[in-house]
Amino acid sequence: MSMLHGSTTLITGGAGGAKFAEGLNCLIAREKLNIIPNIGDDDVFHGLWVSPDVDTLLYTLANDINREQGWGLKDDSYTVLGRLAKLGQADWMKLGDKDFATHIVRTMMLAQGSDLQEITSHLADKLNVRANIILPSRQTVQTRLHTAQGTLSMESYFVEHGTKPQVEQVEFVGEGLSQANSECIKALESVETVLISPSNPILSIAPTLSIQGVQHALRNTAAHRIAISPIIAGQSVKGPACEVMSACGYSPTVTGVAEFYHGLIDALVIDHADEHHATDIRRMGIDVLVTDTLMPNISRRIQLAKEVLSYAATEKLARKQKGAA
Ligand code: GDP
Repeated sequence: MSMLHGSTTLITGGAGGAKFAEGLNCLIAREKLNIIPNIGDDDVFHGLWVSPDVDTLLYTLANDINREQGWGLKDDSYTVLGRLAKLGQADWMKLGDKDFATHIVRTMMLAQGSDLQEITSHLADKLNVRANIILPSRQTVQTRLHTAQGTLSMESYFVEHGTKPQVEQVEFVGEGLSQANSECIKALESVETVLISPSNPILSIAPTLSIQGVQHALRNTAAHRIAISPIIAGQSVKGPACEVMSACGYSPTVTGVAEFYHGLIDALVIDHADEHHATDIRRMGIDVLVTDTLMPNISRRIQLAKEVLSYAATEKLARKQKGAA
């Protein structure tokens, strides 16, 4: 398999991950950036196939995202949803009027025989998204949370229940059955750098890792593999990462993140606030880059992406020199 020189693949979730993806997208040319989004949140609403994390990524990269929320389209309204509620439909999943168009097109193309990868590429093209968006699988994997209030889909847990139910266990329906997309395997095996966004490791990255072939490719790739921690100073910037990490037996710290990705990454990027964990992480055989990892605006996103890419380049050079010696 030929090496795609200077190319980078990012595995990512939705809102948090898309921030980092946006930084990378400003720095890397189209043919050199592959992004593998989370399909574990996919679900059917009002008869339409909705891919929340894929759409968050597309809208962010298209600069169409509602930046206050971090999801949904900017300047959207909720007339259709209001009408659906009047007709007796549940309206907790906040789908805007413009947003509905995406779900209609996706569902229509599915009915016409296209698969989700073809549809995602079509949407990316129409939205002028430059990066290659590669779904981890052409089949589905759906995250289910076993909680004190019963088994919930990802969006029901997140949106309907506001992440309040105590999580006991997380399951990926389709795990072991869904095969990795061949483009996804190529994007992991034949690039120089594989990055993992600062996304929720269990709810946003593990669904991708649960797909047959993905972990094998990640373990065996010659690419330099770097994850960015979504946890800063023992806290998630937003969302239930810490609660879910604890429920799944990981400490809700950067060390827990390192344990979760052990064997799958060469390095972890952590915030200055967590520098005191660096020695423990290095003892696990994982290199550490300590920097500012909070990305409240586009310049901080580009800054972090730049630092991670230049760190990857330095590491690559060090590896080459080691190989030549
Ligand atoms: P979701 O699918 O919408 O939940 O999005 P992700 O899983 O991609 O992102 C959620 C994670 O992003 C949370 O665990 C946050 O802690 C993390 N996150 C959000 N903003 C930032 C940031 O600016 N810096 C870092 N390091 N993590 C962030």
